[in-house]
Amino acid sequence: MVRAEIAVTGVVQGVGFRPFIYRLANKHGLAGFVRNMGDAGVQVIVEGEEKGVEKFIDSLRPEQPPLARIDEVKTTWKDATNEFTIFQVVPSETTGLGLSSVVPPDLALCDDCLREMLDPSDRRYNYPFITCVNCGPRFTIIEELPYDRPRTSMKAFPLCTNCLHEYQDPPDRRYHAEPTCCPVCGPRMELYDRDGHRIDVADPFCETARLLDEGNIVVIKGIGGIHIASKTTDDEVLARLRKASNRPQQPFAIMSKNLETIRTFAEVNEAEAELLTSYRRPILVLKRSPNYMLSDLVAPGLDSVGVMLPYSGIHHLILRHGSDPAYVMTSANVPGLPMLVDNSEAMVKLRGAVDFFLLHDRLIVNRCDDSVVKLIDGKSAFLRRSRGYVPEPIKLSFRSERSVLAVGAELNVSASVLVGDRCFVSQYIGDTTKVETLEYMQAAAERLMRLLNLKSVDVVAHDLHPNYATTRVASRMAKELGAKTFAAQHHHAHLCSLMAEHGLEKLVGIAADGVGYGSDGTIWGGEVMVAGLSSFERVGGLMSQRMPGGDLATRFPARMVAGILWQHLGREELERVLEEFCASGFKRGKRETNIVLRQLERDLNVFRTSSCGRVLDAVACLLGICDERTYEGEPAIKLEAAASKGITREVKLEPVIKKVDGMKIVDTSQLLADILSALRARVPRRHIAAAAQRAIARGLASIAIDTASSRGVGVVGGSGGVFYNWAITAAVRKEIEKAGLQFVQHELLPPGDGGISTGQAVVAARQHD
Ligand SMILES: [Zn+2]
Ligand SMILES: [Zn+2]
Ligand SMILES: [Zn+2]
Repeated sequence: MVRAEIAVTGVVQGVGFRPFIYRLANKHGLAGFVRNMGDAGVQVIVEGEEKGVEKFIDSLRPEQPPLARIDEVKTTWKDATNEFTIFQVVPSETTGLGLSSVVPPDLALCDDCLREMLDPSDRRYNYPFITCVNCGPRFTIIEELPYDRPRTSMKAFPLCTNCLHEYQDPPDRRYHAEPTCCPVCGPRMELYDRDGHRIDVADPFCETARLLDEGNIVVIKGIGGIHIASKTTDDEVLARLRKASNRPQQPFAIMSKNLETIRTFAEVNEAEAELLTSYRRPILVLKRSPNYMLSDLVAPGLDSVGVMLPYSGIHHLILRHGSDPAYVMTSANVPGLPMLVDNSEAMVKLRGAVDFFLLHDRLIVNRCDDSVVKLIDGKSAFLRRSRGYVPEPIKLSFRSERSVLAVGAELNVSASVLVGDRCFVSQYIGDTTKVETLEYMQAAAERLMRLLNLKSVDVVAHDLHPNYATTRVASRMAKELGAKTFAAQHHHAHLCSLMAEHGLEKLVGIAADGVGYGSDGTIWGGEVMVAGLSSFERVGGLMSQRMPGGDLATRFPARMVAGILWQHLGREELERVLEEFCASGFKRGKRETNIVLRQLERDLNVFRTSSCGRVLDAVACLLGICDERTYEGEPAIKLEAAASKGITREVKLEPVIKKVDGMKIVDTSQLLADILSALRARVPRRHIAAAAQRAIARGLASIAIDTASSRGVGVVGGSGGVFYNWAITAAVRKEIEKAGLQFVQHELLPPGDGGISTGQAVVAARQHD
């Protein structure tokens, strides 16, 4: 007889791991126990015949539950004490094993639970909070480790006799399923009218579907947050929803009841179908199909649509009664502020804007927006990495001696905690120019640290920009934690997050986005760098351009057109061009045009930027595609949509590369001037749009290729928001691979600023090591 003391780490709590161990131990005739530990790991002690114990250990990995992920199994062999007669699941321990593990993300409702929920003879018929060890909320309900019901928001709902019986019955699917409940003991859903009066209905889900189909706007509390819902086939309702939510153009995410229905309005390939139906259930950005029949107001001016499938019982129960092919399911928030999670706050903040509220009484502990993914070349490009993914870590290729907390840049922020050889990325936080969002970031970072059992960190990393709110919060948090601070350059951080994903130490990187503070105090955003994990060298990129009026040039891209063409055309010629092609972009007419030209003449209030985003915005404006940005990336996203129908060879646009101060620079003024000539030659705009994107991609790629060959680097990578653009990414990849180099792009982290915090953490760790 032998005794094995086994520590298992990875994603092993909240995934049916203890029931699995229980069954496995019994199968091999072993006695002992299994328990959850305070650091999200699991401890198993077994005694029995040596052969049985060995078989037990050998079966752990191959037979682990589908949602578990074992990182490490540490076994200590001892002599048997014969203290056990049976195998048991014993109460959790608050102390840890000293190894890093993590709770799982929220999991979509499983097929077994869905079947039971729709079975009139089941005691959980029509009950949306049905769950088992294989599905349901995890991250969003957990307060502390170890993951047990008393440390989740389910503590407010003591188990009834029936549920307790299942919870304690080893063969049952709900054995130790922490959030399990039923209509008798669990949370409840109620429908309220616009004034907050409860409406008494037999089936609130059926009623909600009816209200939606009638054209009402309904607020629906889900798992990790609150949505605003409406039908998708009615322009009038959508116009009302746009006005009520103060989102004139921003695409709305929609939810459809099944894959077949999605296929009636969008194109779904095999990889997309797999991701849509996976337990992660992200919003997937899909190409609209030719017979798209939803309102254009779902995603104005785009050729794509963001769709997800139901992931909670609530959504299943509503959608099965609805007759619309899809429903808007957009995060309920005041633009720029975090998604609402609290019932009374939702009632107050959304009063007057919506018609009904469908709410439940379970607290949302950790707010978690829906994830948004676009598949580019079959690889996941995260627009938002949140529900279904968080808090899964990124495994690093090195082990850091120091722990780092990183707070991101300004927009689309996430926080990251790097410890050992893993980097844990928080849920999507958002725009930190608002104080509420900033507080949310801090709370999310602290919660993440608590879930990792970290009392403090050695370093707090932030952006190089001195005036970002996140920079100020970082120094305050560092003081409180007794940690050092570290400033990471924005585009270097982008490339480090990419290297971290791919286990690389060095690459030639193209970092292309909207805005990032450069080491020289100007705004960067179209950079080619030779980057390692602790340092970088900027070797080239896009030409530095004038931004008349600073941030105004971001909102109104006609100003960028003026700034970029300023050097190339004389004042009079430029005035004529702006009048002919961009008149609608100057909202105050000729007076504004004159102010802008005067600013350029005197170089007053004119900033400098090498941003790729601003060039794409200017192209979109010059082509008459978009003259005002109402959401992040709007002109560039609409340019991409227009270009998707264009043919690049219909117009000759070649990137012109110059040498300026020892750097290789793509002359974007020349590019815009060439676009102007094509416009005057009456080339269809869609062709110009496609050729312009390709020229920018080829310009950046050619600098990267030259650099890679002169420095002897074999890998070129692309990071930054511009790499959400399918055509640009494909064109860069093609050039790089044609040159015999390897091209890498993001698959686990967002190419945009949601990936910045991980890069910051990595640079900070490497510089301090
Ligand atoms: Zn289930
Ligand atoms: Zn119950
Ligand atoms: Zn960026």
